[in-house]
Amino acid sequence: MHNVVIIGSGPAGLTAAIYTARANLSPLMIEGSQAGGQLTLTTDVENFPGFPQGIMGPQLIQDMRAQAERFGTAFQTADVTKVDLNRRPFAVTINDEETVQARSLIISTGASANLLGLDSESRLLGHGVSTCATCDGFFFRGQPIVVIGGGDSAMEEATFLTKFASHVTIVHRRDKLRASKIMQDKAMKNDKISFRWNSVVEEVLGDDVVTGIRLRDAVANDTAMLDCKGVFVAIGHTPNTQLFRGQIDTDANGYIQTTHGTATNVPGVFAAGDVQDPHYRQAITAAGTGCMAAMDAERFLEAEG
Ligand code: NAP
Repeated sequence: MHNVVIIGSGPAGLTAAIYTARANLSPLMIEGSQAGGQLTLTTDVENFPGFPQGIMGPQLIQDMRAQAERFGTAFQTADVTKVDLNRRPFAVTINDEETVQARSLIISTGASANLLGLDSESRLLGHGVSTCATCDGFFFRGQPIVVIGGGDSAMEEATFLTKFASHVTIVHRRDKLRASKIMQDKAMKNDKISFRWNSVVEEVLGDDVVTGIRLRDAVANDTAMLDCKGVFVAIGHTPNTQLFRGQIDTDANGYIQTTHGTATNVPGVFAAGDVQDPHYRQAITAAGTGCMAAMDAERFLEAEG
């Protein structure tokens, strides 16, 4: 039986691991088959305090993991396929093979990239359609690329992709960006980036690989083709809470609801990071709530005796 099982290995989970390990709770972290969360899909992190020159996302995760390991966190690189939160100890099934028992649980499963929901988009995913500029940008050297979205992610991806692309067009469904001023300015000042406003992607074109997109201008209500080799979808995220559906309270968008710090409606189950945060969604806030979840779990276990 484990004192604490942590599901998910982004900054929230890893911070929870560091704190629970240092509290001698010998945490078990199930880090998922794609360990490390969204920071592993990003490049420079310039706003995580303590790194005046910035740090690469994957490096930050690697360092956090090493720190958690140093204090005795056990890691399992596998997926949780089932949880039973109806009785204590909680049962956590890993890869449909093994079930471990947990006196307390910290959920830090994060959020995943949204897609537009077009058939052509899913057909060409991995063949020109991507949700990760860091992972796939390199494949489009010297080629025209489209980034879809108007938030910080879209600005960040577009700016990053100018390292490779001949040109980047940001396609946004409105005429105002949602992104923060600083990220907007950076994209707008980049002469390799242009904008298509009020434009909705109707279809990603191409048989085996992407050759372009068909856009509908929402104001003029006409369509146009835009040639490109890469389509990067950066339209937000959905919390990874499918595993817990029906067993834990979530909001209408699936984000786990927490009260009194990181407590969920199930005593002994705590949630940290993007899985419970539709508002801030930063690495530093995820890490902060990871610390809170660890302390909340520790107090819970102490009170249980
Ligand atoms: P977001 O802020 O929710 O923005 C999503 C964008 O996608 C919006 O512009 C939205 O359009 C558009 N969109 C949503 N659904 C769409 C659809 N079906 N079709 C076309 N467009 C669609 O998401 P995000 O950019 O991923 O950012 C999430 C959070 O992470 C934010 O808090 C952001 O500040 C943070 N973040 C920070 C950094 C950084 O500081 N370095 C980098 C990345 C992200 P509308 O505007 O019309 O709704």
